[in-house]
Amino acid sequence: MKVVVVGAGYAGTLAANRLAKKFREAQVTVVNPRSDFVERVRLHQQLAGTGRAATPLSDMLREGIHSRLATVHTIGDGSVTLDPGKTLDFDYLILAVGSTTRALEGTIPIGTWEGAEQARAALAGLPAGSTVTVVGAGLTGIETASEVACARSDLRVRLVGQSLAPTFSPGAQRRIHAGLERLHVSVLRDTVEAVLPAAGEGSAGTVRLRSGEEFSSDLTLWAVLGAVPDLAARSGLRVDDEGRAVVDAYLRSVSDPRVFAVGDCAAIAGSRPACQTAGPQGAHAADTLVRLVKGRDPEPYSQGYTGTALSIGRRDAVIQLTHQDDSPTRFYLTSRLAVVGKELGARTAKHCARTATIAWRSGPE
Ligand SMILES: Cc1cc2nc3c(=O)[nH]c(=O)nc-3n(C[C@H](O)[C@H](O)[C@H](O)COP(=O)(O)OP(=O)(O)OC[C@H]3O[C@@H](n4cnc5c(N)ncnc54)[C@H](O)[C@@H]3O)c2cc1C
Repeated sequence: MKVVVVGAGYAGTLAANRLAKKFREAQVTVVNPRSDFVERVRLHQQLAGTGRAATPLSDMLREGIHSRLATVHTIGDGSVTLDPGKTLDFDYLILAVGSTTRALEGTIPIGTWEGAEQARAALAGLPAGSTVTVVGAGLTGIETASEVACARSDLRVRLVGQSLAPTFSPGAQRRIHAGLERLHVSVLRDTVEAVLPAAGEGSAGTVRLRSGEEFSSDLTLWAVLGAVPDLAARSGLRVDDEGRAVVDAYLRSVSDPRVFAVGDCAAIAGSRPACQTAGPQGAHAADTLVRLVKGRDPEPYSQGYTGTALSIGRRDAVIQLTHQDDSPTRFYLTSRLAVVGKELGARTAKHCARTATIAWRSGPE
């Protein structure tokens, strides 16, 4: 049985390892555009120089799994087309291509490995006193702005967004604001409309806000995630308004039952894009595939939440405790306890992908 896993992030890596572990007869091939597993939850550390996000894929995948360094161009009827015009046949396919960003012109998107590396190089070249603007005050924006401020106290850091960590409780939001103030990150509650390019070599660009305010910015980072690669749409699989593959209760594409879709690129009811959802979904797809092949009934996927962790530089963090449906409770953890919890969460996500285990509550094992 040939299984092709497209994308070696949290969902794809876990799915491939779990399949190889549970069903040794399967010939598993993972297709990924680079030879590293990228811990996207550490991209803000990668760009600020406070951590490393890449681990060789060969250290993450179980023995016996084939890996192909390529980009899947289209998914067809039982085969995929790779970029250089080569094809790979499959009996089952697991689509796990994650999410990407559509950045405003004049900004660097930090949600991808390439963008984070570009931002790292640009940041390293900034002299003291320069201004860095981070666009987007969601979790990625807050983590990026605070990480930069923590690593480079010689820079002025601005964070622009309509609302600060909107999925957190009011108390946790106030605590996040205080943490950012301590790092001298100024927060502007506004929307960036345009970034006008620098007039010449060495001069700053101009950020224009919806309110009409304008200010100069030496480096503008785009920290809004949300777009997904158009592979599913391009391949004729049914997608939702945001381009995510529509799946049934068992995480199979509603257009082709041989194709599973998991992680950020899948439209799964009640699920939000996160490594804590991508991992269990990858595991569930692998388990379902094994059940089907062995002639057993598949189990529907279900996801429960316990909390969301947010770092504010290296020495501060907030963990919002949530109800099972992911809505925030009144309770949140802060300071050292939250710093340890956040780091543990990132390590656990990677460990689960490597060992094919599930740490968070999800569908049946
Ligand atoms: C700075 C930052 C901080 C974050 N912090 C957190 C956090 O604290 N907690 C949390 O839960 N989540 C966090 N997230 C979100 C989390 O990283 C994502 O939700 C998670 O990575 C999704 O996993 P995935 O496996 O679906 O996709 P990814 O991890 O994005 O992996 C997708 C893989 O598919 C590959 N790929 C794409 N297209 C193709 C193609 N056509 N062919 C072959 N391969 C392809 C990509 O190169 C990549 O390797 C953060 C994200 C960012 C950017």
